[in-house]
Amino acid sequence: MRSSFPLGRVFGIRIGVHATFVLILIWFGWLGWQHGGMNSAMWALALVLVLFTCVVLHELGHSVAAKFFGIEVHSITLLPIGGVAAMKAIPEEPHKELIIAVAGPMVNVVIVAVLVLAVGGMPGWADMPVLPGTVGELANHILLANIVLVIFNMIPAFPMDGGRVLRSMLASVIPYGSATAWATGIGQFLSVAFFVMGFWITPLLMIIAVFVFLGAESENRMVRMKDSLRDVHAGDIMMTDYAAVSPDDTLRICLDYYYRRRQEDFPVFVDGGMIGLLPRRIWQEALHRHGEKARVEDHMLRRFVSLHPDTVLASAFQDILAMNQGVYPVMEHGQMRGFITPEYVSRHLTFLQGARHRNRQFDHNDSKTERPSRFSIDLG
Ligand SMILES: [Zn+2]
Repeated sequence: MRSSFPLGRVFGIRIGVHATFVLILIWFGWLGWQHGGMNSAMWALALVLVLFTCVVLHELGHSVAAKFFGIEVHSITLLPIGGVAAMKAIPEEPHKELIIAVAGPMVNVVIVAVLVLAVGGMPGWADMPVLPGTVGELANHILLANIVLVIFNMIPAFPMDGGRVLRSMLASVIPYGSATAWATGIGQFLSVAFFVMGFWITPLLMIIAVFVFLGAESENRMVRMKDSLRDVHAGDIMMTDYAAVSPDDTLRICLDYYYRRRQEDFPVFVDGGMIGLLPRRIWQEALHRHGEKARVEDHMLRRFVSLHPDTVLASAFQDILAMNQGVYPVMEHGQMRGFITPEYVSRHLTFLQGARHRNRQFDHNDSKTERPSRFSIDLG
């Protein structure tokens, strides 16, 4: 979401709009212009802006529910196809996921109720103009759009809201991994149907279909990985045979060790105690900028995250990917026992899953970028 522009913060959650959102404004403005000149163009833009305000409120519904359960919400981003609330994690407890998933559409139900009271009942859809021309007509359009938002989002196409409701209900009777696999299968089947229907309805539906299909795939993969790592501890797969460097060494030594031992990351030791960490990304960049004579001490990380040998990787894995530190020392009683990298975890997973899913190796790119879980994909 790097190409998004900040709009502000609500409840401490960063709200942003993706650059491509401008396309929607241009598209609607142009449709309005074609329909009835400048006046219609302004009403069309008003319609889009109020509609997307409803989408933000929908995402805030999810976010507030998530925060209630202590889950960190990074941001809400508006895309042309709707909103995405990025959360640190998706709770595995079925009741929590259910409440967070339902909280979004509930906001739209409230908006519908308020508008029905305001306009004095359900409007007749049949004689509704294509674009609003008065505030009353705008209210009717927003009312209808919110009803569509509720219905569409509750379609059980995981990872859309209805799909999360389905997964949480399945997960309360069968294991979480199987529930996710079922929800993914149903979600992907429905997304193929969306895609085909998009030919007749709108290309936006086809884009949403692709997001749903890939979103289901990536969440299912993450759940399978966590399942595989449920009984794996940091101490089980850490590398224990490593060379350490000293703060007075030059970066030349990293290059030597890299060629001789294929070691990429280095702990920095003084008198048997670890005082720093030199991940490959950092020493390579320093080597490139300052040359071989640059000193380890000037470039090493002095503050870094370490793991305990008993850390269960299933719970630490997402954080390891998100923190992007590159290498994690495994420490016990202040002593370094070894270290692990996302690549070790990935290789271990490939090894574990090799027999079952020969072709589904963990994508190495995942270890390079921060990927908070995306909670929802909503129609805009
Ligand atoms: Zn939603």
